[in-house]
Amino acid sequence: MKEIDLRSDTVTRPTKGMLQAIMGAEVGDDVYKEDPTVNELEQKLARMFGKDEALFFPTGSMANQAAIKLHTQPAEQLICDKWAHVYNYEGGGVSFNSGVSCKLVDGDRGMITCEQVEESINPPDFYHSPLTSLVCLENTTNKGGGACYDMNEVKKIRKLCNKHGLGLHLDGARLFNALVAKNEDPKDYGKLFDTISVCLSKGLGTPMGSVLIGNKDLMQNAIRVRKVLGGGMRQIGFMAAAGVYALDNHVERLSIDHKRASEIGETLADQAYVEEVEPVETNIIIFYLKKASDEAGFMKQLEKNNIRISNMGQGKLRIVTHLDYSEEMHQRFLDVLDNIKL
Ligand SMILES: *Cc1c(COP(=O)(O)O)cnc(C)c1O
Repeated sequence: MKEIDLRSDTVTRPTKGMLQAIMGAEVGDDVYKEDPTVNELEQKLARMFGKDEALFFPTGSMANQAAIKLHTQPAEQLICDKWAHVYNYEGGGVSFNSGVSCKLVDGDRGMITCEQVEESINPPDFYHSPLTSLVCLENTTNKGGGACYDMNEVKKIRKLCNKHGLGLHLDGARLFNALVAKNEDPKDYGKLFDTISVCLSKGLGTPMGSVLIGNKDLMQNAIRVRKVLGGGMRQIGFMAAAGVYALDNHVERLSIDHKRASEIGETLADQAYVEEVEPVETNIIIFYLKKASDEAGFMKQLEKNNIRISNMGQGKLRIVTHLDYSEEMHQRFLDVLDNIKL
């Protein structure tokens, strides 16, 4: 019985086609900016989002951390949702790398409104409070269950940032999921955000790599910050080749992951042991069992069937669909869910 690993969309292995692209990549020393494949990937993404520049990073956390550093000075404050990845899952890097604090907003499934941002801005002349300098949004939201922002809300937040001279960064680890689910144009995101980070190693299925995208004025320091964080890499074109391949071959197919996620959500909602399934918008399903005490038994029954999902604590269970989750696995998983008795 093959393992079905639905803990995250980061568990994928490169496909045959991707491995071929990696093997055939032309490479050079990227610290000298002489890796043609990295340059190709960066130009491709900058163009796609209508921005001047893009820079390849080893991880999404490093791309976000670099962006925060570019937008802020020590002792300043950024505004983000209480569930934001930059606050919860980057090891406290906001304070370590940038000396910045986070004003946490009580958003809806990881998304915050323009009104909430406005209430969170400290008055710049009130020198007792940290100076607010940046707003970080996440799309799709991770802890919020793959929820997608309403573009109109983002436009309002952009206007507010302009009014108060704040930077606007998008943690777009799963931005391609949102683009596909809502049929949006990357250039619209390029227009609204000063910087955008995108993960290639989640739904797009590469072994590693993220990209930070922005205009020259901000990005001219990005390569220095990346070096400081230890992220200057040499013949990394092999991994950039995987990224180029993923952008050409793995974007449209995200809709398959979304369809399967929505079917899992519907199946879960039918089960007597399930209390609630959060709305499924992309490839993440978050749900709660009727009795929190059933969690261990539920996970055990999945384990017996060689199926793995994530327990996020506070009764929150998470399933993520991805490139390595086949139709055959999908049918077997739905069947297992139908037959669990707690
Ligand atoms: C995965 C993820 C990141 C980046 O994580 P790395 O593991 O450092 O690549 C950033 N933001 C969100 C919302 C994520 O889901």
